[in-house]
Amino acid sequence: MANSGGKGDTFVMRRSFLDAIDNLDDAKFRKMIHALADYGFEQKPPQLEPELNAVFSLMKPAIDSSFNRHKAATENGKKGGRPPKKAKPVAKPVPKVEPKPVVNQKPTKEKPMFCECGGTLRESRDGKLICLSCLKEY
Ligand SMILES: [Zn+2]
Repeated sequence: MANSGGKGDTFVMRRSFLDAIDNLDDAKFRKMIHALADYGFEQKPPQLEPELNAVFSLMKPAIDSSFNRHKAATENGKKGGRPPKKAKPVAKPVPKVEPKPVVNQKPTKEKPMFCECGGTLRESRDGKLICLSCLKEY
């Protein structure tokens, strides 16, 4: 049995491939089948006469793409397939946080500024307002 070398043991035969090689003579047909298989299994570029190589190069992209898909699938499989779904919290609509309008950055004192006598009020150390003119406390 041929050594598969751990590489692919299937390859894609497309109808278009067969159509392309179907009218070759038996010897060439055989070569092409082997070229496709070698390339499909082993990624081994075939040594073909120019005529056949031209046919092969038309098929090569399709072989490459199916090989890459297979390879990707195999590698995903080695990693245990699809990554497990994280238990996502159900996406709740994010409540819109309205920024509180900044009304007063510097809180204005609601305390009176002036005494009824017209004097200026000042805050004393103990927090009382005292008129500078008449010394009345507020
Ligand atoms: Zn006063």
